[in-house]
Order: sequence, then C-alpha cells, then structure tokens
Amino acid sequence: MGEQPQTPPRTAVAAARGRDTLRVCALYPELMNIYADRGNLLLLQRRCEWRGIGFELSASDLGEPLDPDAADLFYIGGGQDRDQALCALDLAEVKREGIHAAAARGAALLAVCGGYQLLGHSYEMGDQTLPGVGLVDLTTVRSDGPRLIGNVAIEVDLGEGPRVLAGFENHGGRTRLGAGETPLGRVLKGHGNDGESGVEGVRRDNVIGTYLHGPLLPKNAWLADWLIARALGRSEPLPALDDALENAAHVEARRAAGA
Ligand code: GLN
Repeated sequence: MGEQPQTPPRTAVAAARGRDTLRVCALYPELMNIYADRGNLLLLQRRCEWRGIGFELSASDLGEPLDPDAADLFYIGGGQDRDQALCALDLAEVKREGIHAAAARGAALLAVCGGYQLLGHSYEMGDQTLPGVGLVDLTTVRSDGPRLIGNVAIEVDLGEGPRVLAGFENHGGRTRLGAGETPLGRVLKGHGNDGESGVEGVRRDNVIGTYLHGPLLPKNAWLADWLIARALGRSEPLPALDDALENAAHVEARRAAGA
C-alpha cells in the first residue's frame, strides 16, 4: 500500500470551501410570515443538512437591534399591512444600522413581498407613508388599480445564465426602482413590481428582494443554493442533491403561471 496523502489541516479545507455552518437570522418571523413564507427557512435548513452543512437559526424581533455579524443570511418574509407597519418603524429606527452594516460586509439578504417593500425608502399605506430601511433605492406607492394577484414567473440571471423563478404574488403596493438599481428579473407571466414596468424584484450583490411567495425557495431550489453558496462565501457549486420533488414543484409553479 502506498503512502497515505497528507490531509491538509481542517481549517485550511474550511477556508478553501467557505464556512461550514450557515447562520440564518429571520427578522420578525411571527409578524412577517404570510403564505407560509417561513417555509423558505425550512428549505434552507434541509438543503444544508442534506449536505452536511451546519444550520443555525436565530430571530430578530421588534425592539431588538440587529447584529450584522451574527448571521450569514438575513431573511424577512411578507406581511399584512397592519403587521408590516409595526416592522417598518422598527426596521427604520432599531435595525437600520445593523442591516446596512450586514449588507456592506456581503451578508446575503432575502426579502419577500412586504419585507421587500420595506427595503426601500418608503411604503405608502392608505394615507400613511411608512419609512423603509433605505437599503436599496426603491419606493412603494399605491395606485387606484386592483391588487396585483396571481401566479408569476420571471427570468433571472444571477451570473450563471438565465433561470426561471416561479411563485405567487399578492400585493397592493407598486414598487418603483431607482435608476441605478437592477431588477431581479424580467416578468414572463404575472404583474411583477408594478404591473407595468415588466420587471420584478431587485438585486444588489447578495441582497435580493422579490414579490414571489410560494413559498419561494421550495419551488425554486436553485435560488436557495445560490443564497447558501453566497452566504457561506463558497465559489465552488454546492454538491448536487436529488431534486426530483423540488423540480416537480418548480414545473408545477411554472405551469400554474402559464410559463
Ligand atoms: N402589505 C403589502 C401589500 O399589500 C404586502 C403584502 C404581502 O406581503 N403579500 O402590498
């Protein structure tokens, strides 16, 4: 038998592969959880565990400042206007500094629907204008038109070629991106940010905002993997999983949207 190759120290392996545990912080997990958006967290957990990647979940609730170094991935789901109003004030007053610092150091952030709206400068609700956390240049206004509801599919390119995200949207707010912002995707079917611009969501580096519920990640497992890899600082693709069920869920969501 030949000589065993020398095993590099574990720390060196970890550094080359990126970190070994995904730390996720959910913002307002009780208040901002509509259409089972919390399912996104469950999918992240499972896809880490199936690959032997550690998973730690924490929460940041009303009144709790956000520690920008405490997580690799921050998550905020959608919410009813009433709950969203509470969170808007808290985000703007208590968590503003933390969330800006987290994004600046490259932490990943996924914000869905109501959470997405709060990433911007302001959110119009009736005759009230709520502050946003001002992380990305967008505003969300109301119009006389109906709520934007239905199945939706968008085409997205996160640097790995065009992919599709499919889900469900239900929002009264119309989101307008500032000139310097990049949308997450192009609407194939559905309404998107405002029902007229033809674009959906926002993406800036590792920050993603989108109107897509579903929940989003179980129907679009590839995006979960992109987020995990980004959050862990991995440049190599994550090991493949048996995604037969996830692919079936994706195909069904696309079919529902007519894309
Ligand atoms: N309250 C927001 C709106 O209606 C977002 C709703 C949601 O998260 N589904 O625009």
